[in-house]
Amino acid sequence: MKKNTQLIHAGRGKKWTGSAVNPPIVRASTIVFETMEELKNASKNKGNAVPYYGRRGTATHFAFQEAMCELEGGAGCALYPCGAAAISGALLAFLKAGDHLLMVDTAYEPTRGLCEKVLAGLGIETSYYDPLLGAEIKTLIRPNTKVIFLESPGSLTMEVQDIPAICQVAKAHNIITMLDNTWASPILCRPFELGVDISIQAATKYIIGHSDVMLGTASANEQHWPQLREQSYLLGYCASPDDVYQASRGLRTLGVRLKQHEKNALEVAEWLAQRPEVETVRHPAFPEHPGHPFFQRDFNGSNGLFSFVLKQGSAAQVQAFIEGMQHFKMGFSWGGYESLITAVPNVQALRSVTHWPYAGPLLRLHIGLEDPEDLLADLEQAFARMALA
Ligand SMILES: *Cc1c(COP(=O)(O)O)cnc(C)c1O
Repeated sequence: MKKNTQLIHAGRGKKWTGSAVNPPIVRASTIVFETMEELKNASKNKGNAVPYYGRRGTATHFAFQEAMCELEGGAGCALYPCGAAAISGALLAFLKAGDHLLMVDTAYEPTRGLCEKVLAGLGIETSYYDPLLGAEIKTLIRPNTKVIFLESPGSLTMEVQDIPAICQVAKAHNIITMLDNTWASPILCRPFELGVDISIQAATKYIIGHSDVMLGTASANEQHWPQLREQSYLLGYCASPDDVYQASRGLRTLGVRLKQHEKNALEVAEWLAQRPEVETVRHPAFPEHPGHPFFQRDFNGSNGLFSFVLKQGSAAQVQAFIEGMQHFKMGFSWGGYESLITAVPNVQALRSVTHWPYAGPLLRLHIGLEDPEDLLADLEQAFARMALA
């Protein structure tokens, strides 16, 4: 089956949907059993699509988990109340006091915060590595290195990592690899084929796609699924069936939405690259982009999220650029149908081991499903406001 067909069918088997098109919303804390035998069997099955207790999920969750496994290629998928919880849940499921974590230097900022403010307190040490390190990551491995965490493309600056090279080194050293795969969504990259052990999604972004629900997923291969499932359950992570229903629903249009985000974003990115005020555009599909060969090899497309760097711009100029925009709203998150903008005045402050070579401010855009002509007009006016500020 090709990707768009798979998105239509994933997790929509008759056992979940009955005679409806979509799996129903099943709300439950208590699951009731007729016989002792039934309860015993359900307890042995712990979360493998057998109802046992609400925290382990209902048919709504099982249908979505099955869909995610089909799309990403994992053996099982744990659900979390948001993407940040999926990251903490996956890391806490495998790390213990005395372990060492190798974290990519371009990680999502709250992931760094988790390492420094939560994991450090539990006796887990984090060191950061350059996102453009491939097999050379082996020089950073210590005897107690337990997990290598990847995020590709990197947050804000979009460096693309050599995922297979890192995973190969990790496997040789018995180290678990986790990938924050949110940018790719479940369809632009096949993390398990690249050797990743655990793939994490902020479903809040493109899976949900409408900026109105928070949800996270972590999918694991056969070897790591039992531990991820059990530990996440013990930590108490679960998600509302109403939210999970919206995620299942989001999958059906993910393919067409991403195609349009990709097309619109490339148009805007190419326009920005021609502007005299712009130092550089950070888009993985651009040939000069750091890690572009890995992007070409491992991804089958791009989306609406990229950034660009201004040659110069004071705080007042950036303010003038952003305030007064009609279509680009200022705010966090991305992956909804609408365009967004955020400014990052100091990228270097978010990096520990890599040097950010640009002095001007970085602006990150999420390009929505509006007509690109309107977005370009909005940006044109923003540059004009900036020039006057
Ligand atoms: C948004 C985001 C997260 C966190 O997801 P939430 O659902 O907001 O908690 C994690 N990783 C990346 C790359 C993100 O963009």
